[in-house]
Amino acid sequence: MPDTQTVTVIPGDGIGPECVDAAVRIIEATGAPLAWEERHAGERVFAQGIASGVPQETIDSINRTRVVLKGPLGTPVGHGEKSANVTLRKLFETFGNIRPVRELPGVTTPYAGRGIDLVVVRENVEDLYAGIEHMQTPDVAQCLKLISAKGSEKIVRLAFEYARSEGRTSVACATKSNIMKLTEGELKRTFERIAPEYPDIDSWHVIVDNCAHQLVKKPEQFDVIVTTNMNGDILSDLTSALVGGLGFAPSANLGNGIAIFEAVHGSAPKYAGRNVINPTAVILSSVMMLKYLGHFEAAEDVEHAVLVTLQEGRLTGDVVGYDRGIPTSDYAAAIIANLGRRAQGWQVRRASPIQFPQVSRDLVFRPATSKEVVGADIFVDTGLTAAELGPRLESVAAGSTLKLKMISNRGTKVYPDGNPNIDQVGHHRCRFVSRSGDPLDFVDALALARQVNQVAEVCHVERLLRIDGADGFTRAQGED
Ligand code: NAP
Repeated sequence: MPDTQTVTVIPGDGIGPECVDAAVRIIEATGAPLAWEERHAGERVFAQGIASGVPQETIDSINRTRVVLKGPLGTPVGHGEKSANVTLRKLFETFGNIRPVRELPGVTTPYAGRGIDLVVVRENVEDLYAGIEHMQTPDVAQCLKLISAKGSEKIVRLAFEYARSEGRTSVACATKSNIMKLTEGELKRTFERIAPEYPDIDSWHVIVDNCAHQLVKKPEQFDVIVTTNMNGDILSDLTSALVGGLGFAPSANLGNGIAIFEAVHGSAPKYAGRNVINPTAVILSSVMMLKYLGHFEAAEDVEHAVLVTLQEGRLTGDVVGYDRGIPTSDYAAAIIANLGRRAQGWQVRRASPIQFPQVSRDLVFRPATSKEVVGADIFVDTGLTAAELGPRLESVAAGSTLKLKMISNRGTKVYPDGNPNIDQVGHHRCRFVSRSGDPLDFVDALALARQVNQVAEVCHVERLLRIDGADGFTRAQGED
């Protein structure tokens, strides 16, 4: 008799409890040796005044069980609360978000018959979702897009390992590296470095906007797509629509020995408690959980039972209209009744355990062989135009080891040789570089920033680094 694994179950908000209840009933009917520890997060927790939306007893439970099945959590808008979903993913460093979609019988879409069966592997904790935002001026907001070498390596390896575990043959890397050469480019370069370690898998890079275009035009060309957090968020909603919508899109958030399984969709509050929604996404998330826990037979049973139920034409309102759809609870009961049956003409993917990337938990600190400060971008909050500001900054810097190279406004050079087409806002990036061309002491740049502050309010300072001989910064549009 296998050991019973306890799973933390979070019913969630809105339609969450209906979806999770259906999944739990189905898993119990398979006889898989799982026990449930119910905990809460989301709206009811925010209402108790816990701003994270995730109480300590939930964190303690997950630290014990290391496996979570959860319903969607609503994010209150406008009260300063962070998303409890993002908090959970980040608190447990579930760095990989796996979002598979496949064509399903009886679910009519414009793509029916084309055999869509693909997975978006989304980096889950970095990128713009680091959630580091600041008002730089009363008018200009900034969100930091943080992409680390370690985070990129983990997600790329996870994508290849996931592909192998399911016998998939290609991994595409989708980035916007043509524009964001350092951040999105980090994922692309990491992908190209690691891909040769997986010679059994085809690898290719695709610019993310073309990826969206190709997904709509010819989705069957994709097998696994690995991408950054924001890209993956958007692409995976798109891919769910290819197979019938969010009601059919499951996901797994995977980390170092910890996993959270949930639908891609949210709490769809307008349908809450009406027993009409489609619980398939959470049910298929629980199939991913069964596989993760090594219960491959039970996983296959549930997946086949879902396919048989759909083949029988038992469809929820999102597919056939809410006047004709069957109730959520009837749908779950039909799946239970179909356990043990095999869908005719439809396969389920045989999976083997994933070899998780071995990642050190130690802090990564990579000292460069050479790291030189070659300048500084000093950002100012001012009502002066670039034409007014430029000469003043040149005179302020006259005695400094740095000189003004250019000023840009929202990334486009506006001084010298002002560009009349640019609508300037009161947030200028003033790029100062070493006057002699030699490396600088950053303290000189800070001293200069104090002087600049006499002319225009300094709101931010960035070093311009040359790391191991390569520029660690990009040029403004129009900067030579
Ligand atoms: P949503 O809850 O995903 O709902 C958007 C629409 O998708 C629904 O109105 C409905 O479409 C359809 N839908 C979603 N799930 C469905 C299901 N199981 N069965 C049938 N139809 C389904 O997105 P939202 O309205 O943007 O977000 C609502 C709340 O959920 C927000 O507070 C958001 O922050 C949160 N959220 C949570 C998660 C998560 O927990 N992981 C993810 C996303 C959003 P129709 O209107 O066309 O019928």
